[in-house]
Amino acid sequence: MTAFTIGSATVTRVEEVLEPGFLPAFLFPGLDSAILDEHPQLKQPNFFHAESGKVISSIHGWLVRLGGKTILIDTCSGNGKARALPLLRRFNMLSFPFMENLAAAGVQPEDVDLVICTHLHVDHVGWNTRAKDGRFVPTFPKARYLFGRAEYEHWTDGPGPSLFPENVPVIEDSVLPVVEAGMVDFIDAGDTIMPGLTVEAVPGHTATQLAVKCEMPDGAFICTADVLHQPLQIYHPELNSCFCEDGEAARTTRLRVLEYCADSGALLLPMHFGPPHAGHVVRDGDGYRFEPARPS
Ligand SMILES: [Zn+2]
Repeated sequence: MTAFTIGSATVTRVEEVLEPGFLPAFLFPGLDSAILDEHPQLKQPNFFHAESGKVISSIHGWLVRLGGKTILIDTCSGNGKARALPLLRRFNMLSFPFMENLAAAGVQPEDVDLVICTHLHVDHVGWNTRAKDGRFVPTFPKARYLFGRAEYEHWTDGPGPSLFPENVPVIEDSVLPVVEAGMVDFIDAGDTIMPGLTVEAVPGHTATQLAVKCEMPDGAFICTADVLHQPLQIYHPELNSCFCEDGEAARTTRLRVLEYCADSGALLLPMHFGPPHAGHVVRDGDGYRFEPARPS
């Protein structure tokens, strides 16, 4: 199990799946595939599956232990959820050992104090709920679930459903049951979750996506939601994924996050990078390069 120690915090990756995900030209429309050859690091097996030509995609949550609290950032895709529409077929009726992996990290469902969802896409909210007696109920019985207020409104009273109709069933089975159970606290960009832990707006992928930032005297990290899908985007921040709602905003946000990581030394914790799944952003000429982190 991959874990990192940053100051007084430990962050453990809880895997749902690690597999060849998308063809790069699908994930990054307009990609010149010669870009991959410019950086040999990107063609290593931890980031690229040569046989299929697909980039390696991880889906995981980050389990943060900080100040005596157990915090799960993003809950992957979940098991047994119908995702019949073609774009989301990869997520249809899954049966992955996410909860077993959480247990292997020493955490039972009732141990989780906070669940934070960076945004409400299919692969970030699934284990918010699980099937019980024919319906979906909250998975973590003692947790408070923190959803961005603006992100929630984006999907329930905003343009989300028309921009990404495939995600509507996700809201219905993995978001609304938790809201209806009274277990959600809505949060806003700039809020402090607990000492050292804040959320900030990282618009683009969704208009209202949040990053989770931890700044302590002895270290910092940032969970970047889907500002970055692949290490390739550190070398080419202009590349948006096909799932980004607002391309211009996504580029501006990506540059700001890369600059923050390079200037502060904060550990970058993305949601979809291949092993070791986290790293540092280092200035290189006019741009940046990726230095994979060493797990503790
Ligand atoms: Zn994602």
